[in-house]
Amino acid sequence: MEKGIRIADLFGNEGEYTGKPVRVQGWVRTRRDSKAGISFIELNDGSCLKSLQVVAGLENPAYRDLLEKITNGSAVMVEGTVSASPGKGQAIELQAERIELYGWADPATYPLQKKRHSFEFLRQIAHLRPRTNTIGAVSRVRSRLSYAIHRFFAERGFNYLHTPIITASDCEGAGEIFRVTTLDPLHPAAPGAGNSYQDDFFAKPAYLTVSGQLQAEIFALALGRVYTFGPTFRAENSNTSRHLAEFWMIEPEAAFYDLEDNLDLARDFIKNLAAVVLNECAEDLDFFTRFIEPELRSRLETVVNSPFEVITYTEAVDRLQKSGEKFVYPVEWGNDLQAEHERFLTEKVFQRPVGVIDFPRSLKPFYMRVNDDQKTVGAMDILVPGTGEIIGGSQREERLDVLLDQMKLKGISIEDYRWYVELRQFGSAPHSGFGLGFERLVQFVTGLANIREAIPFPRTPGHAEF
Ligand code: ATP
Ligand code: MN
Repeated sequence: MEKGIRIADLFGNEGEYTGKPVRVQGWVRTRRDSKAGISFIELNDGSCLKSLQVVAGLENPAYRDLLEKITNGSAVMVEGTVSASPGKGQAIELQAERIELYGWADPATYPLQKKRHSFEFLRQIAHLRPRTNTIGAVSRVRSRLSYAIHRFFAERGFNYLHTPIITASDCEGAGEIFRVTTLDPLHPAAPGAGNSYQDDFFAKPAYLTVSGQLQAEIFALALGRVYTFGPTFRAENSNTSRHLAEFWMIEPEAAFYDLEDNLDLARDFIKNLAAVVLNECAEDLDFFTRFIEPELRSRLETVVNSPFEVITYTEAVDRLQKSGEKFVYPVEWGNDLQAEHERFLTEKVFQRPVGVIDFPRSLKPFYMRVNDDQKTVGAMDILVPGTGEIIGGSQREERLDVLLDQMKLKGISIEDYRWYVELRQFGSAPHSGFGLGFERLVQFVTGLANIREAIPFPRTPGHAEF
């Protein structure tokens, strides 16, 4: 009897297990009894999308009395022999010899039915939704991608860096920030009450991080290549399908990388991860392509196989203006590219991933490197079909005098960022990096319409359950 077998192991080695006794454990997806006296139990253990068909004789004395309790959602153990399946849709099945019930699920109240549930409904039962095909598949892809991201950077000499979750700097003023305080809101010294912060935990204003980039720069200028992969918080009061209040961000930062090196890294990164999904998540990808987004597989193949187009922001604006396309937001040099513009470029104009570089200085944060034209900075966005912008990055300003000018221009306090300025006073060096929202990536590789399905426990305005 081989114990501790995952159903994925059985399906992955069909020949090897046929005729052998095994023990499997999982949750019942469905059960149906045939007139011929056989009960068919679909058992899923989360190791893969497919469920294992368990074949149980209704009159088998070993478990006859138990079968009525084998309801949808119940947790069970089955011992039996693997056999070739005569049924359609599966190569093998399990002939049950012994069944044990770990935990019954009452069919009168178990919320997951065989039918398809809406994602809105499933969010309300976030403790049970991982047992659905879609959330199970997303969760496996998410985990596989996390591993692949660490592997990608490790193979290229990048050190994994843990940047603080609580910070005292409002980095780039990206969206709204969450304040961290131990003071009761009614305390006379509570933030907003017009008093000093001396009674508060950090004795000054503190926030949840919106980005680990500035701290990553510190370590890039010592270790050479680093990356962060951690939680990030933005109190964006927008209810969009692309924004979460808590999300995970990946931010590589490399010394001696110029914008071109940075673009190469971002391109390799996206190609590598798209290939991981194609090669290592084939079953889940097929599911998403069949049930969520028909173009998904071909989008990923395009990312892996096509060279990326690289154009300047100025060229992009020109292309958009000449396209004759009607956009909701006007296209004008100096305006930010909106999702509709980004998608038009990558889906219609070039039909492949696009890197857009050299954005107007006025659009971008103070730390981006000013180009010789004085009007643009060495920024880069990577656009992909179906999503638009997936990565944003830049070469950072390493020249002390230019950085100070930029800070003045953008109203950034030099006192608050003393340490950032000192990095330009003591052994400054060219360096670059980018940021990628992990859930945007998960959305891109699964075709999910809403980012709330791309994270186990979504936090959005009005929602922080579970
Ligand atoms: P957007 O314009 O979509 O709000 P942004 O310009 O605020 O993005 P950056 O500050 O460049 O984004 O952050 C880097 C990456 O983090 C983005 O490219 C995106 O993938 C991701 N990201 C940003 N905000 C969120 C959010 N609220 N929820 C999930 N991912 C996000
Ligand atoms: Mn934003």
